[in-house]
Amino acid sequence: MEFIFITLFPELIEQACGHSIIKRAVDAGLLSVYCVNPRDFTTDKHRTVDDTPCGGGVGMVLKPEPFSAAIAVAKKRSPQGLIVALTPGGKTLCQKQVEKLAGQGQDLIFLCGHYEGFDERILEQADIKISIGDYVLTGGELPALVIMDAIARFIPGVLGKAASAEEESFSSSLLEYPQYTRPIDFEGAKVPDVLLSGNHAAIKRWRRKEGIRATYCFRPDLLAKANLEEGDGSLLLEIIEELKGKQNE
Ligand code: SAM
Repeated sequence: MEFIFITLFPELIEQACGHSIIKRAVDAGLLSVYCVNPRDFTTDKHRTVDDTPCGGGVGMVLKPEPFSAAIAVAKKRSPQGLIVALTPGGKTLCQKQVEKLAGQGQDLIFLCGHYEGFDERILEQADIKISIGDYVLTGGELPALVIMDAIARFIPGVLGKAASAEEESFSSSLLEYPQYTRPIDFEGAKVPDVLLSGNHAAIKRWRRKEGIRATYCFRPDLLAKANLEEGDGSLLLEIIEELKGKQNE
């Protein structure tokens, strides 16, 4: 799977891909990263990529010509590539969409904006528009990297164990249970006994219950659409009773 970044700042992408799991994946040929810089398609001596907004207003808007030329180059490289525009006005990214994009296995062509954003005629060339949240960043490079990173975890071989991506937060619309490692006692804070018991059924139940507890306490909105299993209802009742008990202490 190739990730093509249409960006005015390819160094940002190159630096971000030069470390840790993504670097290893690139080196192993599990995914590839390619940048196209719209500035390379400008024709004036200042290599202009932006201009003032029609109708007035602050900031600079990205011009359609260099971006369209960059899209054409990306499409030539990957004719089936899906064009993803990064914009605060896009659909908010969620784990389901990440899994869908990963499952399709289609190359992605990220349109990274900057300044005041894209001329609308650039956005019209996108197949989908994605926002990574209800806030505004200075550019689309970080959002595009976020999407690539989230998808890369589903590419076979990228993570050490295939199971790791499946057991994480959001995989069943629940947050993940708390994780611990050694030391068993860190400045008086101890790893829960059950995790040291070797009792796999008890560990499984504890993890399920703590995942439900985290979701109930921090993201109750997710519980309504969670893939709940038989027995989860009684775990939730236990949690509610425990929380009530704590309130009354
Ligand atoms: N004027 C634009 C607006 O209000 O929607 C914001 C432009 S923003 C300063 C510059 C670029 O950063 C955008 O074109 C987009 O590529 C990227 N960007 C900023 N926030 C983003 C977000 N939450 N999700 C995805 N992309 C974002």
